This record gives sequence, structure tokens and C-alpha cells, in this order.
Amino acid sequence: MKIKLKSLPRYLKEISRDNKYMLPLIFALSIFQGLAPLINIILPKYILDELLEMGRIPMILLYIGGLAFGNFLFQMAISVCKNYLIVHTYAITLSTVKNLGIKSTNIDLQDSEKKSNLDLLERGKQGTYNIVAFTETISSMGASLITIIMVIGILIQNDWRLILVILICNIVTIPCFSKIKDLDIDNAKRGIPENRAYRYLVSVATDFRFAKDLRIYKGDKFFLKKAEDTMDKILHINHAYFTKNGLWNGLAQSIVQIQLTITFIILGLSLLAARITVGTFTMLYGASNQLSRSFNTLIQGYTDLITLSFNLNPYYEFLNIDEVGKEGEFSGSLSKPVALTFENITFRYPTAQEDTLKDVSFNIYPGETIAIVGKNGAGKTTIIKLLCRLYKPQKGRILINGIDIQSLSMEEYKKQLSIVFQDFKLLPIQLDENILGKEEDFITEEDIGLLWEKLEETGIKSWVESQPKGVKSHFTKIHDDKGLLPSGGQEQKIAISRALARDGSIVILDEPTAALDPKSEEEVFENLIQLTEGKTSIFISHRLSSTRIADRIIVLDKGEILEEGTHKELMEENRLYAEMFNIQAKQYVS
Ligand code: ADP
Repeated sequence: MKIKLKSLPRYLKEISRDNKYMLPLIFALSIFQGLAPLINIILPKYILDELLEMGRIPMILLYIGGLAFGNFLFQMAISVCKNYLIVHTYAITLSTVKNLGIKSTNIDLQDSEKKSNLDLLERGKQGTYNIVAFTETISSMGASLITIIMVIGILIQNDWRLILVILICNIVTIPCFSKIKDLDIDNAKRGIPENRAYRYLVSVATDFRFAKDLRIYKGDKFFLKKAEDTMDKILHINHAYFTKNGLWNGLAQSIVQIQLTITFIILGLSLLAARITVGTFTMLYGASNQLSRSFNTLIQGYTDLITLSFNLNPYYEFLNIDEVGKEGEFSGSLSKPVALTFENITFRYPTAQEDTLKDVSFNIYPGETIAIVGKNGAGKTTIIKLLCRLYKPQKGRILINGIDIQSLSMEEYKKQLSIVFQDFKLLPIQLDENILGKEEDFITEEDIGLLWEKLEETGIKSWVESQPKGVKSHFTKIHDDKGLLPSGGQEQKIAISRALARDGSIVILDEPTAALDPKSEEEVFENLIQLTEGKTSIFISHRLSSTRIADRIIVLDKGEILEEGTHKELMEENRLYAEMFNIQAKQYVS
């Protein structure tokens, strides 16, 4: 794979865009680091020449003082710049990680399921940690360039042969560093699936939501064994990489040593022939050594930049994935209650082998409540996901009041939806923020009134009141020891409160009472009849007794509509619905 360095200036620009200190800091650090070696090359010459030849004590003291003070100043400046650079680069790293989070919540769910995108995200996350190395490499390359120019100036005036020796030896090391770069890239590519699997396994083991199952089903043993096996694979890859890397690096360093020996011989002969003083010998030897190191840093920096660019590419590639279309052209308001039309919907999940929904068409009239029933895997939840625009059907359209839902702005459309997903998640934030969907600072007295009203309607008010922090309680104990750990049923009631507080024109409840006790279920359904009045509603429920509150029932089977009608009509038809209803009724009676 050809990696282009062309993208590096863009990365540098984008990285420094949000932080105005970045480029000046890199520039200042390059200058200080580039000039610092010079005083240690030049001043010792004068000290030695004074000591061995002229012997002027004040001058000796002046040079020694200059050396000490110069070093002090440079080292302080370098240290301050480096530390500021670390702080600002860390801030940039954190915000790039945040960018990945923002992007992840904006891409199509369909794209988020693709393995290639998951790998990209994993590499993107790792890539962001290269930003520190990226800025360090650029500043050390800048420093080397400055040192090289200055040192060449010194050597040219004294012995140009030294420059030739250093140049030749450094050119010889280029293939070594190029090989190391190839190894770096190969290593980064090879460990991707293993690293992603390892992180996932460890994150599950450290996530206490899995604690019960892991303990009871011995998962702690064999699950972590999987992590160990994956770690072995990663270490195996790393071992091979570091061995080869060490060999090539060793070879490059040996060549540098050969060059130092040749330099020593050239300068030694000059000293013997009294063409140079001991002080000049020291200066030129130091200068050669420094020139070689700076060349080395430049070559190594160049190959490092290629590797870093390779590591940063996935971050930008992930950020370039198309986002869900947010803006639609429709700008009018929708008259309520709304009508919904599913028009010849065919849908297949990106990773699936066959269609989950096959040419599904049905209407829901304004204010009507329908129930969708069917066996597991029939496609009921998929209908809901399409209605929520989490996925796009490959064929057909969903219309709201005759307008394609895709043509509404996502922000406006979301407001229409009051939904409880089957696998809903409450966020680890405060209860009022969870239910009202607002940050604490924006929650008004009126909002809090509405909140208590909804908690009462779903029968969870007294429990919330009994909590030390009431509606200000954090959900889960991740951030607060006094956080809530509700039971499944309590959580479901909170999720229903959240849906109802939104007051959308479409109410969607996917198995809303699965975790509720019979009394709570009865209460919730009693309330739902009132709460969904004047709204267009869809229920999915396996408790067929609850479908009695629906005006109409749609029976789905293997992604197709099998039956449609009222409870009475479907019982008379005596097909799948009647069969499922009778099985449940028989169980209750017996
Ligand atoms: P239901 O709600 O009727 O039980 P779903 O709509 O959840 O069924 O699922 C219908 C089918 O689609 C099932 O076979 C399920 O395995 C499959 N499915 C659901 N989600 C995905 C997904 N993200 N990727 C691939 N297949 C999926």
C-alpha cells in the first residue's frame, strides 16, 4: 500500500485548528532544541584552547559560565515548551476521541454494523494516540534541520571531508529505516482484529452488567481464557515484529558507529600533523557526532511520519463515513393525529442473507392504535426501526400524512416519536435528564411538574420519591454511590415515562410490559388507553390479552403480513392469531 505524505500537512492543520498554541509551540521547541547542541560543540573548544595554550583564567571562567548558563537557559526553555506541548497535544487527543464518539452517533446504524467500519473505528481510536508522537516527531525534525544547517556551517570552514563521510554513512542507513517503517505498518495492520477482540473481551469482563452471567455460567473462566488466547496471538505478532525491528535498528546503529570511527581517524591524523588544536579536535568531533545524529533523526523522522500518517488515516477515514441524512426538504407542520403508510417495504440487514421484510404494505389511520403480533423473528421490531429511520428500506416508502419520512428533517421527525424500544437503554445521567432529554441547566419548574406527572401515570412516582436524591438521582452507580439501580420493571416504567414525556404524535411501544408484574401491566395498559388518545400508536406485545386495546391487529409472519383485522375478525378467521391466542388462553385457564 502506498502511503502518501501529502495528507500530513492537512492533518497538522486540522490537529492545530482547534488549538492556537500548537504550531507556535512546535516552532519554538524546534528552535530551542536545534540551537541547544551548538553551545556544547563550540564553547568546549575555547575552554580547552585556553586551558592548554593561553591559560587566561578570566576567559576560562567566562566560557565555563557561558556554557553552564547557556545550557541552563536552553534546557529550561525546552522543558517548558515540551510540557506545554504535552498538555495541548493531550487536549487535542481527547477532542479527537470525542470526534469519534460524535461521528459514531451520527452514522447510519447500517454502516455501524459493518466489520470494516468497526475495524476502522478501532484503528481510528488507536490512531488518535499517535498525535503525541506526531507533534514530537515534527518538532524534533525541525530541530534537526536547524542543527544540520548550523553544524554544516562549522564543518565547511574546517574539514568538508567530514560532511562527506557522515552523508554517505547516513544514506546507507536509509534502507534500514525504510525496512523498519514497513515492519511498523505491517505490524499495525496485522494486529487489528486481535486488538479489537481483546479490548472487547476485557471490556465485557469489567462491565458489571455481565457479572451475574459470567459468574454463574463459569464465564469468568472460559471467557477470560479467550482473552488470554487473544493476548497470546497479539504477543506472538509483537514478538516477531520487535525481533526484526531490533535487527534492522542494530544494523543502522552499527553503520553510525563506523562513521564515528572514520571521523575519529581523520581528525586524529590532523591533530598528529598539528593542523588543528585539541580544542578544534573536540569541536569537530562533537560537531560530526551531532550532524550524524541530526541526519539520523531526520531520516528516522521521515519514516516515522509515514507510519504515523498510516496510523492516523483510519481516524480521518472514519470521520469521512457518510452521516444519516439529517435535513429533508419538507418544512411545513404536520396536522395531528398523523396517518402512517407503509408502502411496499422490502428490507434486508446489511449482514443478512435474505430479506427480513418482504413487500410489506399497511396503513395506520390518524389516531388509530394498532398491535403488531407474530412469532419471534417475524420482523416486528424491524418495522419499528425503519419507522424510526434507524435503517433505510431498500424498496418502498414510509409516509407520514402522505409525506415520505425521509423528507423531514431528522431533528423535527424525532420529535414525533414517543418510543420504548424492546432493548431500551437509560443513560448513566440524572433521572430528570434521562426522562426530559435535556441537560440539567435547561430543565424548568414546568418540566419537573410534567416529569412527576408522567412518573405517576406509569406508577413509579412513590419509588422515585423514596430515593435520597429523587429525580436528581443518577441512573446507575457509575458516577454516584447514591445512584439508582432499578429493577427491570422499574426501569421499564421509567422508559415509558420518558416516551410519554416527549409527547410525540406517534407512540411506539415494543414489548412495553415484558418486565412488569401482572398488576403493573394492567395499570400501564389502563393508562395507555388514555395516554395514547389522539395519537397514532403501535404496540408490539406477546401478551395477546393486551392487544384488546388495539383498534386493529396486524399479524406478521416471516417478514410478510399474514392477517389484518380486529381481535374478533382474526379469531373468526381462525389462523395464526387465533392459534397463538388460544394457546395463551389455554395456559392461563389450565
Ligand atoms: P421480531 O421483533 O419479530 O422478533 P426482529 O424484527 O427483531 O424480529 O428480527 C427479524 C429478523 O431480522 C430476525 O431473523 C433477526 O435475527 C434479524 N435481525 C434483527 N436485527 C438484525 C441485524 N442488526 N442484523 C442482521 N439481522 C438482524
